[in-house]
Amino acid sequence: MTDVQLRKDHIRLLDNELHLHAPDEACGVLIGRKEHSSIIVEIVLPIKNSRLSDRSFELDPKEYYDAWKRAEEEGMEIVGVYHTHPHSKASPSAWDEESMENYQTLWIIVGVDGIHGFEWDGGVGPVEVIKVT
Ligand SMILES: [Zn+2]
Repeated sequence: MTDVQLRKDHIRLLDNELHLHAPDEACGVLIGRKEHSSIIVEIVLPIKNSRLSDRSFELDPKEYYDAWKRAEEEGMEIVGVYHTHPHSKASPSAWDEESMENYQTLWIIVGVDGIHGFEWDGGVGPVEVIKVT
């Protein structure tokens, strides 16, 4: 199983994102690197939800491009995306599942029950979230 390493400051930022944009969903990207089956996150970068919706999200294309460039410049890559569920648990909605199949990367969902990771592997599978200091 894949695991993802998030630092305390990443967790704080993600928890903050959950409340900051409520009732709408917040979203962003995770920048870092992959080592074997581990994903090491260095930067959690909020991106505007261009849908402004409480049911779904869409990463603003311009900000996504800037994030991609920044990752490239720092010798890293976009290793995943995150979004929030301000009113529900951190499990993928039907819309999320469809999007996960189309955009296969690490998906972090921040919900009322905490932070959970998922990836598409012929279906939605879990990714272990490891909190590091
Ligand atoms: Zn969702």
